[in-house]
Amino acid sequence: MLSIIVPCYNEEETVPLFYAAVEKIRSAIGQSLEYIFVNDGSHDKTLIELRRLASQNKSVRYLSFSRNFGKESALYAGLKAAKGDLVTVMDADLQDPPELLPKMIGMIQDPEIDCVGTRRADRAGEPKIRSFFARQFYHLINRISSTQMIDGARDFRLMTRQMVDAILELSEYNRFSKGLFSWVGFNTEYISYPNRERVAGRTSWSFWKLFNYSLDGIVNFSDAPLNIASFVGAFSCIASGIAMVLIVVRALMYHNSAAGWPSLVCIILFLGGLQLLCLGIIGKYIGKIFLETKKRPIYILRETEQSLKSK
Ligand code: UDP
Ligand code: MG
Repeated sequence: MLSIIVPCYNEEETVPLFYAAVEKIRSAIGQSLEYIFVNDGSHDKTLIELRRLASQNKSVRYLSFSRNFGKESALYAGLKAAKGDLVTVMDADLQDPPELLPKMIGMIQDPEIDCVGTRRADRAGEPKIRSFFARQFYHLINRISSTQMIDGARDFRLMTRQMVDAILELSEYNRFSKGLFSWVGFNTEYISYPNRERVAGRTSWSFWKLFNYSLDGIVNFSDAPLNIASFVGAFSCIASGIAMVLIVVRALMYHNSAAGWPSLVCIILFLGGLQLLCLGIIGKYIGKIFLETKKRPIYILRETEQSLKSK
């Protein structure tokens, strides 16, 4: 059986389109299907659409959160609920073309392949500035983290049960799926396709949301910022030590105490700033530890298709 996990946040327009698009290629999939829609606290009529689909079709299941927990939590909930031997994760907006599924299922039959991932060949239709920062992010994270992340790789992927179980073992609170998919290893084969625009609705990712998301990725998968902070700290310590010796020597030899307080103020400000920066970096990691040690649930369910039946 194939499980299709679809995180939905304010997707009332796209959910029916998505469902229709998958039903159209259902015969080409050649497996029994299970849909798992995860309603991530939508404010529109997404849940009503999901109830309607679930009452029409037994293979449609849904999980509805008590509030918006974010796409990462929705993915985790979906993976946990999936019963299929093959599991795929797709966006509701048809930016992940369902037409690729038959080909991906064909590829994963090869016993050497555990996962078929997708990447977009281009970033057409995306704001230039967003593409620029995305490229910089992948460049940076691949340099400072031992977990490799592929530029343009989407969350859309088909996985074997074995790999899904491995991902579920990672029950951390701060989830960055792109990294988790890569961290668990296994053999992933990528297919690329030209970028698509979403069919309806609008993206819920603003530039700042994406920027913070990329910072999360760095903090979750690399301790390089901490190393940089320590390195810069050590360097300025040594430099100020040398400067102190030079000043003492100069005072003893020439007996002129130079006025020089502006330069002193500059140095104090510089070091003060440096310390605040390093504290900020450390604070970011401590914040993650804080959230992680609270062991709060990753999501809270309010309703599933089961509650529909019992009503
Ligand atoms: N999504 C979600 N929770 C959120 C934000 C987004 O479940 O808090 C879902 C959304 O419904 C969609 C997918 O994640 O199915 C990708 O979101 P979107 O298309 O807005 O992002 P983009 O494709 O622009 O990166
Ligand atoms: Mg999208």
